[in-house]
Amino acid sequence: MTTLRLTSSHDDLARAAEILCAGGLVAIPTETVYGLAVRADDADAVARLYVAKDRPADNPLIVHVADVDAVLSVAREVTPLARDLLARFAPGPLTLVLPARDDVPDAVTAGLDTVAVRIPDHPVALALLHLAGVPLAAPSANRSTRPSPTRVEHVLADLDGRIDAVVDGGPTRVGLESTVVDARGVVPIVLREGGVTHEMLGVTGVAEARTSAHRSPGTRHRHYAPALPVHLAEPGTGPGVAVALVAELGGPVGLIAVRASGALEPLTATDVTVLAVPRDAAELGAEMFTLLRAAESRGVAAVVVEAVAEEGIGRAVMDRLRRAADATAPTSAS
Ligand code: AMP
Ligand code: MG
Repeated sequence: MTTLRLTSSHDDLARAAEILCAGGLVAIPTETVYGLAVRADDADAVARLYVAKDRPADNPLIVHVADVDAVLSVAREVTPLARDLLARFAPGPLTLVLPARDDVPDAVTAGLDTVAVRIPDHPVALALLHLAGVPLAAPSANRSTRPSPTRVEHVLADLDGRIDAVVDGGPTRVGLESTVVDARGVVPIVLREGGVTHEMLGVTGVAEARTSAHRSPGTRHRHYAPALPVHLAEPGTGPGVAVALVAELGGPVGLIAVRASGALEPLTATDVTVLAVPRDAAELGAEMFTLLRAAESRGVAAVVVEAVAEEGIGRAVMDRLRRAADATAPTSAS
């Protein structure tokens, strides 16, 4: 299959919507990461999406809809909590888990009786939802286990020849996936950290403690792994950790350090390649997947990334970094 490259021009979006309506697979920009979209009401098309991504069958998909009313095209019920969250955060990087309607294909929900749904905050994604006129299931447009795609090049690196088309919308703004929240009860329960923070949700105390026990199915899987080991270093210790790793591995090591100034103190070690110096967790989050993919072609044997505080967007950043480090550790299974 040849993957058609489309722009976000009116004609190209009309073409993308046609392909989607016919059951095709189209990668589209959203504010979080690129999504691989397929009509959510077509079980065969959804099955092809799992094959294209090599996605484990027990990892359900997020359904994207154009507006609050359309949430009811896949959810049996919009709880008062869900209404409140939609009023505050939609469109945006927040996914709600709600009771699923019976007509949502099992392939979308991985057989669960709940469905994950969100309204993306991106003009191209919203235009395509309006043009296609059906809900679109859209997981991240990467091969399973790889870092999520924040640019069209990442989509093509993983999926060229495996999907029908990709729509270029430039780099994505948030760079991290949506926050997944169980909205069936009276308080939001965070199932996956993401672009909407605990602080924004007002999740504290008891509700927060409940998050670790109730993870999204997808958080069990190997994920976010570039083709080289990722090492997490305590804040400010990246250069020292990188130098030690150069000695241990006998080869050059990449470094992503976090400094409020955006600049790193001069390094004496010549075998440490500074990949980036983001100023804070938000900057690191926006660039992280791009940097991890770019590191693969920089001739380094490993990447050291400095940790950020587990607050605000830092929580989602640390979740992804830990999982990238675990997935690339020498002892990691598969
Ligand atoms: P992705 O779109 O690739 O970022 O992955 C979607 C995430 O949403 C995965 O972590 C899924 O496990 C999670 N998800 C999708 N549907 C549900 C659901 N019904 N209940 C809980 N988590 C879900
Ligand atoms: Mg994903």
